[in-house]
Amino acid sequence: MTNLSPQLRQATPVVAVRGEGVHVDGEDGRRYLDFTAGIGVTSTGHCHPRVVAAAQEQVGTLIHGQYTTVMHPPLRRLVEKLGEVLPAGLDSLFFTNSGSEAVESALRLARQATGRPNVLVCHGGFHGRTVAAASMTTSGTRFRSGFSPLMSGVVVTPFPTAYRYGWDEETATRFALRELDYVLQTISPPDDTAAIIVEPVLGEGGYVPATEGFLQGLRERADRHGFLLILDEVQTGVGRTGRFWGHDHFGVHPDILVTAKGLASGFPLSGIAASEELMSKAWPGSQGGTYGANAVACAAAVATLDVVREENLVANAEAMGARLRGGLEEVAAKTPAIGDVRGLGLMLASEFVTEEGEPDPATAARVQRAAVDEGLLLLLCGAWNHVVRMIPALVVDEAAIDEGLRAWSAAVTAGTADS
Ligand code: PMP
Repeated sequence: MTNLSPQLRQATPVVAVRGEGVHVDGEDGRRYLDFTAGIGVTSTGHCHPRVVAAAQEQVGTLIHGQYTTVMHPPLRRLVEKLGEVLPAGLDSLFFTNSGSEAVESALRLARQATGRPNVLVCHGGFHGRTVAAASMTTSGTRFRSGFSPLMSGVVVTPFPTAYRYGWDEETATRFALRELDYVLQTISPPDDTAAIIVEPVLGEGGYVPATEGFLQGLRERADRHGFLLILDEVQTGVGRTGRFWGHDHFGVHPDILVTAKGLASGFPLSGIAASEELMSKAWPGSQGGTYGANAVACAAAVATLDVVREENLVANAEAMGARLRGGLEEVAAKTPAIGDVRGLGLMLASEFVTEEGEPDPATAARVQRAAVDEGLLLLLCGAWNHVVRMIPALVVDEAAIDEGLRAWSAAVTAGTADS
């Protein structure tokens, strides 16, 4: 009998047979509240009627038109639509299928454009699982061990993870920037440094928002030393944080922006945006792949962007995020095992700690399992897998937030009972 590889063992026992909005129906006949959204992918909810209609129509018209061979209307429309939301000057786009591929595109472009070898990455960053992206990932050994040699030219520098350092944000920011200056002085001199890549909110690394001072400090150093600032918005983009892009919270301007996940509501589509001048440094043939900008995925992305705008989903993410956060903080206030509640918009998490304040993955796992019993699907993250995160679809409403909070409160009580 064939079976899935053990690496594909699911985080929950649920067999999802159908999805609608923020719910999925299990084969067991139960309806679950899905606060995982396909790991932040189904931005408009499961099977939003407009996304379904756009994809269905495209399937019957043109499934695939390879983009180095022919242009197709969904791609042309998607480029126009993204033009309405991208930061000024990032007017050239390139598409791939997954976050990892887009990260690699950004890396290749940075090396091609600067002629420099190194990429600086932040402690706790996650950028994907292909070998180059895994080499740039430091959010857990599970993502990078056992298949060395990893790609060379990756240098790690701190992220202002205030809670874990036991500092305030200002101190953590000052530390991270001083260490970066030290790295540039000692390990990766500017002439060897092509780029720094950072997530506006650490995702897999534990849902830690960057600070404005940190991102502005990166921008300033990139300008001073002639390297590029790559923002990995794979998880934080398309309204997830209550702004269209995560970096909108911090007023920082990227040289290369990486997007994926929420862009096409579940169809595989990712991409990078940069200035035309920068993008022209990548020579034809050095980027891309057969399936990039697939016509059905592009049609779904156009519908997604329309829904996000017309249903005010960015504002909804901000409002529902505030409501969810308030509830999470209430639960944390009476739960010593929850050391920190953090995140932005609808990208929120609770960090589980021992009495000594050390990461507590066992309790986090118990709570996550108890949540499934309560009908709530959640995921873990953080270097120790000790952080429980919530990333509901951006269409989530007050009733679903409150339903989720009731389940969360019960799951935390059950999961911390004997700890
Ligand atoms: N970058 C970030 C910030 C991510 O969160 C992820 C996925 N969790 C990736 C890159 C990789 O994306 P994918 O799994 O689609 O390759």
